[in-house]
Amino acid sequence: MRIDILTLLPELIESPLNHSIIKRAKEKGIVEIHLHNIRDYSTNKQKQVDDYAFGGGAGMVMCIEPIDLLIAKLKSERHYDEIIYTSPDGEIFNQHKANFLATKENLILLCGHYKGVDQRVRDHLITREISIGDYVLSGGELAAAVITDCLVRLLPGSISDETSALTDSFQDNLLAPPVYTRPADYKGWKVPDILLSGHQQQIDDWRHQQSEERTMRLRPDLLEGDE
Ligand code: SAH
Repeated sequence: MRIDILTLLPELIESPLNHSIIKRAKEKGIVEIHLHNIRDYSTNKQKQVDDYAFGGGAGMVMCIEPIDLLIAKLKSERHYDEIIYTSPDGEIFNQHKANFLATKENLILLCGHYKGVDQRVRDHLITREISIGDYVLSGGELAAAVITDCLVRLLPGSISDETSALTDSFQDNLLAPPVYTRPADYKGWKVPDILLSGHQQQIDDWRHQQSEERTMRLRPDLLEGDE
């Protein structure tokens, strides 16, 4: 998979993409992540990338031209399955959408800033709009980092134990069961006996029951299976 991230602030997103699972996935050639500074595509002498909103009002708006030039350049080099604008009014990101996007080969993530991008970018240049939740961030970089992290850990080979990502919360509409590690007894707080029993089938059944119980208690909406 290849992910191209278009931003005015590449520094904001570098660190989360250079550690742990994402770093290893890049090293193994499972994912390529390219950061592009939209400012490099400004044709203006001052390298301006934003301007006042037509009609007035507070806040700057990101201009269409540098974004168009950058997207056109990338599209001339390869086909993109989706060109995604991170936006608080987009479709809400969740595990189902992550599973779907993780099957794609080439993605563009466009990060907004200030008041967002000129509406014509949204009308003509992108294919999808994604929000990471009902709150407003100051820029799309953290949203792009969240989406990228979530997709990369789903790619085969990213996580050493391949079944691990599939047993995480939200797969099969269930929350993950509780997990424990050594010591088996800490200050009298004990690990459930079943996990120490060595009976794999019973352990699996227990974990499944715990998942169902937890989901029923904490997120009954997931069991309605509306997706
Ligand atoms: N004026 C806009 C908010 C702009 S916030 C509005 O009221 O809808 C600046 C940028 O941050 C946005 O362009 C978007 O790229 C990003 N952003 C903010 N909140 C986000 C969220 N919940 N999910 C994804 N991106 C978000």
